[in-house]
Amino acid sequence: MRTNIVCNQCSQANKGFAVFYVDTIRDDGVYIGRCPKGHHNAVATQTLRHEMLFDIALNAIVDKYHREAISSFAASVERYYEFAIRVLAKNRKIDPSTFEISWKTVSAQSERQLGAYVFLYTVSFNESPVVLSSSMITLRNKVIHNGVLPTLQEVLDFGEASYDLIQKGIQKLRANCLDDVNNQLVESMRKTIEKFGDQFPRSTQVTPTALNVIQDLSAGYRTFQQIIRGYGIQTPHGEAPQ
Ligand SMILES: [Zn+2]
Repeated sequence: MRTNIVCNQCSQANKGFAVFYVDTIRDDGVYIGRCPKGHHNAVATQTLRHEMLFDIALNAIVDKYHREAISSFAASVERYYEFAIRVLAKNRKIDPSTFEISWKTVSAQSERQLGAYVFLYTVSFNESPVVLSSSMITLRNKVIHNGVLPTLQEVLDFGEASYDLIQKGIQKLRANCLDDVNNQLVESMRKTIEKFGDQFPRSTQVTPTALNVIQDLSAGYRTFQQIIRGYGIQTPHGEAPQ
């Protein structure tokens, strides 16, 4: 998948309006290279793992890779769980080294992380979190483990369930522990920037993605239908989504 990277020198020459160039999306969020005009750039994106995976899923739908879309939506949900667990631990002032020791015991198994999320959320907010329904879990398992090819409608249903789960969770976290959300974002950004080593000049950028933890969700969030419309995705009947 491709992503847009901003060139600071081109942008300065453009009276400060951002000038982007296209690069292949990278696992570590660090983009070191040259823009089409030859300016050297070292750019770190602040996109969180679950946000990147969600955009990869949406682009897979655009490219008609439905199996891959479900797999990336499912991975996005799992990485959101990790983000939330880290935020809730920060909220309890858990020592980072203690957290990492505990994380090691759940890091290899997503079902353990789901359990950690459900109960950290429950004890934090005295309510149960939104999780994937059993029909969505069945669909996911059929696709990922049995090689079933999902229909476009199934992909959109799974995407919408994943989207609402994550947005409702982020809404809750932002409303109750915004400082910890921001601190986790800073920590994630710091780990990305560490990969620069002594590379200068360097810069950071916010890439527009469907999910973005820095968005204020207190008054609600865009519907999944609005999101897919923004990606030019048609519903199975060819109608423009409502
Ligand atoms: Zn440039």
